[in-house]
Amino acid sequence: MKREKGKLIVISGPSGAGKSTVVFKAIEGRDDVCFSISATTRKPRPGEVDGREYFFVEPDRFTEMVANGELLEHAEYVANRYGTPRAYVEEKLAEGMNVLLDIEVQGARQVNEKMPDAIKIFIVPPSLEELRRRLEGRGTDTARAIEARLIRARQEFEEADFYDYIIVNDDADKAAQELAAIILAEHCRAADHMDLLKQV
Ligand code: ADP
Ligand code: 5GP
Repeated sequence: MKREKGKLIVISGPSGAGKSTVVFKAIEGRDDVCFSISATTRKPRPGEVDGREYFFVEPDRFTEMVANGELLEHAEYVANRYGTPRAYVEEKLAEGMNVLLDIEVQGARQVNEKMPDAIKIFIVPPSLEELRRRLEGRGTDTARAIEARLIRARQEFEEADFYDYIIVNDDADKAAQELAAIILAEHCRAADHMDLLKQV
């Protein structure tokens, strides 16, 4: 039987909502889902490793990547630039893998223009107070960066209706289960199985 095509899954949500936590819980132990590592001009946080959380690049290199068309989408977020390397995403989708992108709203809109079949999921914290607690608890951002991220979070909430699904990350295990359930359900879409029906 023909191998099913992979799905492109765009995950957005305010910084500190728990996107990385939920994404990595949902991926664990699965060989049909992979995560696209972005390029960024942001400096690594303590514990972050180049090529694992991000490809950390200088601003000039980022500009070059944009000029060469190496990025599927790119955007600026709180004074840093972020972008999705195109080649990895295209390669994995062609192999039949589901590819997860953790990107902000402007990038999600660009992906949607190019790949309208992408599944768009918005992950939110249970409240802004909890978001502040998580950002402070993570201990990786300065007080100023946390304030900037909270301001941006309020703006992002207003764009939630662009997404197909919303996951409230109260309990991270439950949120990861919801993400897995969405992927499962998306693979049952009728439109994707019409070829099979013709063979029955
Ligand atoms: P994001 O990727 O959205 O910026 P992270 O995954 O880094 O967010 O999570 C931000 C902080 O919140 C981390 O310290 C993480 O351990 C914590 N966290 C994530 N999900 C939950 C949750 N459901 N309950 C409590 N803390 C959480
Ligand atoms: P952080 O600095 O907290 O890791 O990420 C800040 C924001 O940048 C998050 O909302 C994250 O989703 C977003 N982001 C990470 N990688 C990319 C990317 O490749 N493209 C875009 N547009 N946003 C990204």
